[in-house]
Amino acid sequence: MEAKYHRQMLNKVLSTHFNQADLNTITRANLRQDWPRGQLHPEYHCDNSTFAASETYIHQQRQLTLQALAAQNRAAALAAFGRLLHTRQDFYAHSNWIPLQVAQHGGLTICAPESVALCLNPLVETNLISGNASIPRWLLYRIPLLGSFVKRFYFPPDSHEAMNLDNPKQGPLFAYAMAAATRHTQLEFEQLLAEVEENLGKTSVASFLSPSQ
Ligand SMILES: [Zn+2]
Repeated sequence: MEAKYHRQMLNKVLSTHFNQADLNTITRANLRQDWPRGQLHPEYHCDNSTFAASETYIHQQRQLTLQALAAQNRAAALAAFGRLLHTRQDFYAHSNWIPLQVAQHGGLTICAPESVALCLNPLVETNLISGNASIPRWLLYRIPLLGSFVKRFYFPPDSHEAMNLDNPKQGPLFAYAMAAATRHTQLEFEQLLAEVEENLGKTSVASFLSPSQ
């Protein structure tokens, strides 16, 4: 998803739980995943159908969050949480989960964005794919004049460019991706707090949510 929309979701879900400085730390780590180095990691973005690797990455970042909290390193905990949310949010924009769900529930006119189910385990979904991201193709499409010419004749349907729901220009399904990704952001937050409480206790939950004075 584009930075603006990652930011919108983080604000909507987390701004009542974290102060502005902490929200900035989470957001910065989330958005950095789209920097050039992050583009070398399809699993950060659920690209190339790397669902197993993406789930492993999310799990690792959740563990890092817990370890950082145990070591009283709030900044590292907030950043790891921001990174895992990026992957979770990108899932809904880069995979075919949203089109599959909308089609299954009667299409755009019947199915409302808020009623799309969350994908709780991509590894058991048999028809799930995500767009193939290719840096050379991405660069090719951006060459002035030539890029748009090539795109007319070479636009693979399973490419990231064809499948993504990164912004509203990609069509009406974008709103569904946003709605589901926002709800899953909320769920990740609740699950993380539950894990922190279970492993480190209530005081760690409190210190994660508000810095000590
Ligand atoms: Zn991304």
